[in-house]
Amino acid sequence: MKYLDEYRDGAIAQKLVEEIRRTVTRPWVLMEVCGGQTHSIVKYGLDYLLPPEIELVHGPGCPVCVTPLEMIDRAHAIARRPDVIFCSFGDMLRVPGSEGDLFQLKATGANVRIVYSPMDCLKIARANPDRQVVFFAIGFETTAPANAMSVMQAKAMGLRNFSLLVSHVMVPPSMTAILQSPLNRVQGFLGPGHVCAIMGWSEYEPIAARYRVPIVITGFEPVDLLEGILMTVRQLEQGRARVENQYARAVSREGNVPARRTIARVFDVADRSWRGIGIIPKSGYKLSHAFRDHDADRIFQVASIRTREPEVCISGQVLRGLKKPVDCPAFGTQCTPQTPLGATMVSAEGACAAYFNYGRHLVAVEAKA
Ligand code: SF4
Repeated sequence: MKYLDEYRDGAIAQKLVEEIRRTVTRPWVLMEVCGGQTHSIVKYGLDYLLPPEIELVHGPGCPVCVTPLEMIDRAHAIARRPDVIFCSFGDMLRVPGSEGDLFQLKATGANVRIVYSPMDCLKIARANPDRQVVFFAIGFETTAPANAMSVMQAKAMGLRNFSLLVSHVMVPPSMTAILQSPLNRVQGFLGPGHVCAIMGWSEYEPIAARYRVPIVITGFEPVDLLEGILMTVRQLEQGRARVENQYARAVSREGNVPARRTIARVFDVADRSWRGIGIIPKSGYKLSHAFRDHDADRIFQVASIRTREPEVCISGQVLRGLKKPVDCPAFGTQCTPQTPLGATMVSAEGACAAYFNYGRHLVAVEAKA
């Protein structure tokens, strides 16, 4: 398949690994930002192919993982209301809140529905004028345009019974927060390919320049990732710190301009809380004043919710590249994809779930034996 098979070609991958070995002369710590990249790295064992000088750490780019527990509980409080049809993508339904997940809520009679697009919710809202239809709008910049389109459309149609529960976050502020930490170990980034397909990569240039850190916008297949690692290591070895684009088949410097305009029309930038990390200033979106009638937070006014993460969980350190899932005492024992305790085990794109799904808990047990 064009644009897929050639990026999974073992011979090309092997050549890239050899070139990385020839290039590297000293230790470097690289972070892949996206959960999809983490998933591919672990699935294909790319980290095992690399020379020992290169350490890959896993970043905060898994949207389900970074959605705060407090926001999940808020979604549940809204979904429990008899006048609400609560809609979400399927992956959020099994994310546990403080008292179970949306599947369990659905089993007790709540009107919870899986949709494939926020636009599906408009049809549901039209067909159910006596109900409030709420879509759980989580994710990074990648999903923001479609969510923005849905409220623009609802407003144009005069559909007053459709709203978004917004928990959108943005990648660049999270990278800045990681670099500003006194504990930071990251020296180069594999930038988020899908996010940059929408936003372009110009907003990463000030980060590369200010923190003297190379950022290579990278795709998701094994050859993409190895080429992104090679480009990052070359910059580090040569003392350069620029934004480069490995994922040129999908990403341009300016990104998708109409999609960016749509985001800017509907959302304002706001402080956001990241699960496992805390509040990062100006790191997400909220609906702008013009769309306040479609803001579920405003409509339902859920009282503030206090939550507590399990003390054993180190997912905040995993998301900042300070620890690996195998460093957690609960990994693969108390905490599995069936019994997730923390942020990075709840989604298949989370680092802990990826490590578990590809057998790293068995490797960890063997290593300890
Ligand atoms: S294995 Fe579970 S408890 Fe440990 S860091 Fe990952 S999500 Fe948290």
